[in-house]
Amino acid sequence: MENSSVSVEIDHDLPVEQDYDLEDLYGFLARDHSPVLTFYGGEPLLRVDLIRKIMDEAPVKRFIIQTNGLLLDRLGPTYVNRFAAILVSLDGSEALTDKNRGSGTYRKVMENVKCILKQGFSGELIARMTVTEDTNIIDAVTSLADNPDHSFTSIHWQLDANFSPDFSRRPFVSWVQNSYNPGIRLLVRRWTDIMEKTGQVPRWYPFLDTMDDLLEGRESQLRCGAGYANYSIMTDGHIAPCPVMVGMSQYYSGHIGYTHPHEICRIDIGNDCVSCAIRTFCGGRCLYANIMQPWETEGRRLICGTVKNLQTSLMAAVPVVQSLIHSGIIRRQDISCEKFNGCEIIP
Ligand code: SF4
Repeated sequence: MENSSVSVEIDHDLPVEQDYDLEDLYGFLARDHSPVLTFYGGEPLLRVDLIRKIMDEAPVKRFIIQTNGLLLDRLGPTYVNRFAAILVSLDGSEALTDKNRGSGTYRKVMENVKCILKQGFSGELIARMTVTEDTNIIDAVTSLADNPDHSFTSIHWQLDANFSPDFSRRPFVSWVQNSYNPGIRLLVRRWTDIMEKTGQVPRWYPFLDTMDDLLEGRESQLRCGAGYANYSIMTDGHIAPCPVMVGMSQYYSGHIGYTHPHEICRIDIGNDCVSCAIRTFCGGRCLYANIMQPWETEGRRLICGTVKNLQTSLMAAVPVVQSLIHSGIIRRQDISCEKFNGCEIIP
């Protein structure tokens, strides 16, 4: 793979579909004292047969799935209702989602979401947005949070930034300065306003996980857990630090056939993040981007500026949140979330 600054060898012979012995997978999971298994793609629901088989056979109590939601009605309630969390890709409004993902996507996904809720799904339902220069972050989050048809328990978003060498072709600079960063500052205020008015804590992951740590004065590693708590099994059974690092064999951390879950190699964040002043808040944002650096320095600095803006906005909200907790309007335990469930946390 080539990009603006780093070249990494890719294993182009990886099988297209799962091509390891499922008994190796089950043996590997059985040696982990609390395994959580996430189905991830491509689109995992293209193989409902395989998902059902694994859910029937794997020694796992907690299952998660990340899906585009278009085939969510195919799996059946017996299996869907066993998921602890379902992450569904939507980008905010119907118009924006359909622009990004194709006409009719939003309606079909929402039909399926209503269907699984009607059939008894009671786990965490997370709307996962990809955010680009077409996104007004306030509109996108509020359209998902406020629409009465929506039943998402949680919202997460990730910036589509520094994943491919496209910085020079995009209007990212002006969008970050004029739209995204000011939008985050307002959104954090809206987040605490909602808490104050309703006594409920909106489960907006980029705010929730980070505020949890700020309240405790806790430092964070890479918040998605890639490379030390969260790993991806490749189609040939190798273990990679993250699902985006498909085929990046020099970063593989083991193999399900011969590596004990407690002996998987750790892959740490490096480069600019090592000496970053807000590393313990950010954690490093994205291991793949940290290694590959698809964007030049200016672009990377802008992204880090969004993290700094998030940190500053949340730090300003800490006294408000503490006061809401102390006055009993919200509960401390509501500022918390499941770790390593596919939400990267830092957008
Ligand atoms: S703000 Fe930027 S440099 Fe700092 S830890 Fe995060 S990604 Fe790394």
